[in-house]
Amino acid sequence: MMLLVDVHDPGRDPHAAEFVDLQAQGVRVRRIGRHRIAMISDDRPDLVQQVRQGWPEARFVAVQSGSPLTERDTFGESTVVQVGDVLVGGREFVVMAGPCAVEGVAELRETAAAVAGAGAQVLRGGAFKPRTSPHAFQGSGGAGLSLLARTGREFGLPVVSEVVDPRDVERMAEDVDILQVGARNAQNFSLLAEVGRSGSPVLLKRGFGCTVEEWLGAAEYILAEGNPNVILCERGIRSFDSVTRFTLDLAVVPVLKQRCHLPVVVDPSHATGHRDLVAPMALAAAAAGADGLLVDAHTRATSTKCDGPQALCADKFGRLMASLRALLPTVNRTLPSRRLQVAG
Ligand code: PEP
Ligand code: MN
Repeated sequence: MMLLVDVHDPGRDPHAAEFVDLQAQGVRVRRIGRHRIAMISDDRPDLVQQVRQGWPEARFVAVQSGSPLTERDTFGESTVVQVGDVLVGGREFVVMAGPCAVEGVAELRETAAAVAGAGAQVLRGGAFKPRTSPHAFQGSGGAGLSLLARTGREFGLPVVSEVVDPRDVERMAEDVDILQVGARNAQNFSLLAEVGRSGSPVLLKRGFGCTVEEWLGAAEYILAEGNPNVILCERGIRSFDSVTRFTLDLAVVPVLKQRCHLPVVVDPSHATGHRDLVAPMALAAAAAGADGLLVDAHTRATSTKCDGPQALCADKFGRLMASLRALLPTVNRTLPSRRLQVAG
């Protein structure tokens, strides 16, 4: 077993001799939000003793699972991830919306204007698309990323986009406010460690074959690199029924809320694959206690190269936001007022 020690002393210099000494003896020390965590194997009573003497205020937590840094009991408080001036995991419900893939300038601007006008707070758009076939549209790459960043700035929205290659993390973190790790890469451990080292907010989707334990294990890879800014995203799992694209596992929302301190958002678009099912499942997610949504929206859904059948047009998106505005107070949440802040 391993002991986790929360020295919870944000005032203490991380380069202080005590920390350096512990690390020299092979102990991993990580800063997670306001906490400083030392991971000590319980077959090292000498180190345990050293910590007890050096940090009389230290709190010892016996580790019960393979992902102790994700557990609510470890910290006892919810993590709120700050993205620009948007807080994910606080009282405000956060809607992230935009096209599945970044394509042309005009449709991205139209879509950004529509979702921002309806109250979305984050603009989504894939530039590197993980497609099932290598012959399908792979995304617009670096050019798409710059376009997304520019459009986000223009409409005052932080942006989220998927990173598929560990070698792109550093460069993407300059343009993107939230790095998305997609379902197909949910257990790509070198990618997880790399986004962990970046320190940027990460939206970690559930792999469609992953149990909660495996999903939290993936989140642990990011946290273990000292990056506490992880948002979990349920996006449907594989089941026997193909009536919907995947099977949206909404019970996982309260399960995660009990077990884990990280914010949880739901993607009803990739989960269902049909635009008519997006609003009902989005509302159900809000009622189940999700902290926000990731929604495909597109003003020209019929001509998009990627996931058109699940994209909401401006009208339907606006109606969904109005329904959320009515529902959220019943679960003690709010939607922020509309923001249409066009730069320049
Ligand atoms: C996406 O959000 O663009 C995406 C590809 O989702 P997922 O990884 O959930 O399939
Ligand atoms: Mn998609």
